[in-house]
Amino acid sequence: MLKVDYEACTGCKVCEKVCPFAAIVVVPETKKAKVLDTCTLCGTCVNACKFEALSIERRAISEEELAKFSGVFVWGEWEKKEDDNKIKKVVLELLGKGRELAEKLGETLSVILPGYNVEHLIPELFHHGADKVYLCEHELLEQYTTDGYATTISSVIATEKPSIVLYGATPNGRDLAPRIAARLALGLTADCTGLDINESRQLLQTRPAFGGNIMASILSPYTRPQMSSVRPNVFSKPNPDSSRTGDIVRVKVNLSRIVIRTKIIEEIVSKDDSINIEEAKILVSAGKGIGDKENLKLIEELAQELSGTVSGSRALVDLGWIPHPQQVGQSGKTVAPTLYLALGISGAIQHLVGMSGSDTIISINNDPEAAIFKVSDFGIVGNMFDIVPEFIKQLKEYKLKKQDK
Ligand SMILES: Cc1cc2nc3c(=O)[nH]c(=O)nc-3n(C[C@H](O)[C@H](O)[C@H](O)COP(=O)(O)OP(=O)(O)OC[C@H]3O[C@@H](n4cnc5c(N)ncnc54)[C@H](O)[C@@H]3O)c2cc1C
Ligand code: SF4
Ligand code: SF4
Repeated sequence: MLKVDYEACTGCKVCEKVCPFAAIVVVPETKKAKVLDTCTLCGTCVNACKFEALSIERRAISEEELAKFSGVFVWGEWEKKEDDNKIKKVVLELLGKGRELAEKLGETLSVILPGYNVEHLIPELFHHGADKVYLCEHELLEQYTTDGYATTISSVIATEKPSIVLYGATPNGRDLAPRIAARLALGLTADCTGLDINESRQLLQTRPAFGGNIMASILSPYTRPQMSSVRPNVFSKPNPDSSRTGDIVRVKVNLSRIVIRTKIIEEIVSKDDSINIEEAKILVSAGKGIGDKENLKLIEELAQELSGTVSGSRALVDLGWIPHPQQVGQSGKTVAPTLYLALGISGAIQHLVGMSGSDTIISINNDPEAAIFKVSDFGIVGNMFDIVPEFIKQLKEYKLKKQDK
């Protein structure tokens, strides 16, 4: 329940202004806040009250109450691309997995879509498996802000009571999901690599633990919804079905500028972030086996010949030879290119979890026992400094021959 500390309450009415459900009023006679029965415990007013006069006391809920939560929800994150808004690929990947979970539970699959002028994005969500879209349009949601998005999504969760909510573990998803979890006092499992439903209809959330050496299965038995974040490229995108449609629920967003504590003045893409290995089709990935930073030139030359992108193991990032956004693995990015070339990479588990979903993996390593060969489609045992220059030479010759024809 939402509690008011009458000693601390000054009657300033901020809670009244920010509550999306008109569930708190300041009584004129007492000049103190009073909570009404319509309170959904969304937490918006608690964060807005500058006098710390509000707090939420949550109790563990019974099995009967847990059973009332139903539906798999996905946060419909979008991004501005070439002057238009586009649904992020990870959302479509989550819809594929979400459909599977919803069918196992016999529940519906919905998307919460906060934004402004984003209605045109809805058909793509239906085509990829959504049954319902909660459209939350408001001009204050035109750009992502932690407070605006957390308030809006928390309100939908509080009223709709889904059993599962999934978020893409993108930079904004990593910011948003823990904020909602804290606000609603829910569990959250970050960076899941597997999601399933167990015999008790609970969400089985799998993720690497203890430095990636074991895979842990995590349950949230006492709270609902169960919430997980998943990185891009972990699940595959379902094939779209353009004949699918669904229901649109237009949510009345009651958002006040007071709850948004940040203002976006300018967006600057960092030079390091301009290389997006998550979306690359061909990755030429280097490990400590390259021996010297100078040898990266060879890797770059091969990447150029293949029209690919350079990535690498954490060892190279730790040495400062490549920037962190180009790191593949557990503490870097999860990638799924059509071709992944692993050059001088041993194949530690923390690296493998980030790249084993690639379509074709080719590895070069001078150690025949290297673990990377276990996940490779083609493995070459040998010195990469003999093989890579020869490979580049043959690629150049092949291209010349093609030009001459
Ligand atoms: C919590 C945690 C998170 C981590 N996250 C990540 C992560 O996100 N990504 C990641 O990559 N690692 C990660 N690591 C580190 C990981 O455990 C390994 O240490 C790292 O992946 C090793 O990098 P490497 O394969 O480049 O180097 P090494 O293990 O040193 O392997 C170099 C390889 O090159 C081969 N080699 C040497 N010379 C040649 C040559 N001339 N020709 C061909 N082959 C040659 C060697 O045989 C060897 O197999 C993490 C570790 C921890 C504890
Ligand atoms: S915002 Fe806080 S101090 Fe102001 S009226 Fe509400 S509870 Fe009282
Ligand atoms: S917790 Fe949410 S619903 Fe309840 S009074 Fe505060 S803002 Fe309104």
